[in-house]
Amino acid sequence: MAAAKPCTLRINDRDNVAIALRDLRQGEEIEGGIVLRDDIPQAHKVLLGDARQGDPVYRYGVELGTLLRDTQAGSLINEHSLALPPRPGLSDLEFARDLVSMGDLPQPPRTSWMGYRNSSGPAGTRNLLGIVTTVQCAAGVIRRAVERIRSELLPRFPHVDGVVAVTHPYGCGVAINAPDAVIPIRSIRNLIRHPNFGGEIMVVGLGCEKLTFDRILEPHEITPENTLLLQSCHGHDEMMGAIMAMAELKLGRLERRRREELPLSDLLIGMQCGGSDAFSGITANPSAGYASDMLVSGGATVMFSEVTEFRDGVHLLSRRCVDRESCERLAREVAWYDRYLEQGGVDRDANPSPGNKAGGLSNIVEKAMGSIAKSGRAPISEVIGPGERPTRRGLICACTPASDIVCGPSQVASGIGLQLFMTGRGTPYGLEIAPVIKICSRNEMRERWFDMIDISAGDVALGKRSIAEVGTEIFNMALDVASGIRQPFSDQYGFHNDMCIFNPAPIT
Ligand code: CA
Repeated sequence: MAAAKPCTLRINDRDNVAIALRDLRQGEEIEGGIVLRDDIPQAHKVLLGDARQGDPVYRYGVELGTLLRDTQAGSLINEHSLALPPRPGLSDLEFARDLVSMGDLPQPPRTSWMGYRNSSGPAGTRNLLGIVTTVQCAAGVIRRAVERIRSELLPRFPHVDGVVAVTHPYGCGVAINAPDAVIPIRSIRNLIRHPNFGGEIMVVGLGCEKLTFDRILEPHEITPENTLLLQSCHGHDEMMGAIMAMAELKLGRLERRRREELPLSDLLIGMQCGGSDAFSGITANPSAGYASDMLVSGGATVMFSEVTEFRDGVHLLSRRCVDRESCERLAREVAWYDRYLEQGGVDRDANPSPGNKAGGLSNIVEKAMGSIAKSGRAPISEVIGPGERPTRRGLICACTPASDIVCGPSQVASGIGLQLFMTGRGTPYGLEIAPVIKICSRNEMRERWFDMIDISAGDVALGKRSIAEVGTEIFNMALDVASGIRQPFSDQYGFHNDMCIFNPAPIT
């Protein structure tokens, strides 16, 4: 007898696999009278009809790959069952073929938020003093100085939210003139100017590094007020004293900043996913996509990234690019990434992690289709490289690595004031410069990490809540967090990852 409650979910009419909504046992009968030939763990795929070797397997209506052997209905389909299809070509991408008008996107329930206005660019979601190093050699000094600033100075500046040591692995021992060095250099340049730092520049170097001030600052910005070289200081106490004095001056200016009511057009939000599972693409990511569509239709700018995770859907994204320029930039950035992976002797299928596979994601095509869902339906107004600032509003494709730890800093360099982070398997990930809201794909995840996951999209798979309902919850929480009314769990606990900026250029 078939189970009374649905136990599998099929997403598209073309699909010949369905996803197990809970752990299913061999011998159980599922929808359609199919008797399971294998145990099917939750989120994994079951084949819905007998198929032959070489037959395509469809999920999201998209071919995930072809079967490596004859397979009967009711069998488990995983990474050992499928051959990867060829990746989509880049030479014949079409643009402006699937442009949804703003009026057809979900409309935002609120159109303003409370942020820190900047003289140009997006507004701040926090009021922070950011102290940026030019080289890792200075990191230890800066971290210690930041501890002292927090305990000795910050209590006198109640309107400043915090002090951040923006340290990173770049700066010296690198081929600074290599073509790809532009990526880490512009990332650091843009980090200095992050909207949450309110235009206050504070950069500390060692003195003999390759990343000199003139590479990351304008000539008029290189002043004793903004910059300091440790090698020019006379001993430890003078060094610390100089940093503390600089910080005190900057804190005094930041102290005058106040939140004000701003339109959504002053907001820049990033999205990424990490520790994905087979539910990510049907619950958390489409819900985030709905929130993104609301933000974009309200005038905000929303950024999605992770090239290896959209590589297999690049032909779908290009059709959403508003113009030829964006489409050509997309092709260029993706071609660069293909070469980057080839140089390392791998292809895009190096992406799914053991955790992804244990979560039911068989290969990169399946992961890509789920990942793309977070971009919603809005037109893509601009395509940028890692660490670049967008020049347009709306939905932005920022071509960063998918690695959580590198995508985050890249998007921060691009100026995001907040990140939506979708996860299936769970991660404590957080960013010190921009708050991170954690959205999980399954209720089991939320129950396990009940005090670390901000929102669960799991009810979508159970039919208890719609994508629109969860998407609206994400939208509202994003505006509350951006406005400083709420703190996501990662900030409550102070779980913040290192700024691993992307450096594809040689280390010498
Ligand atoms: Ca990621």
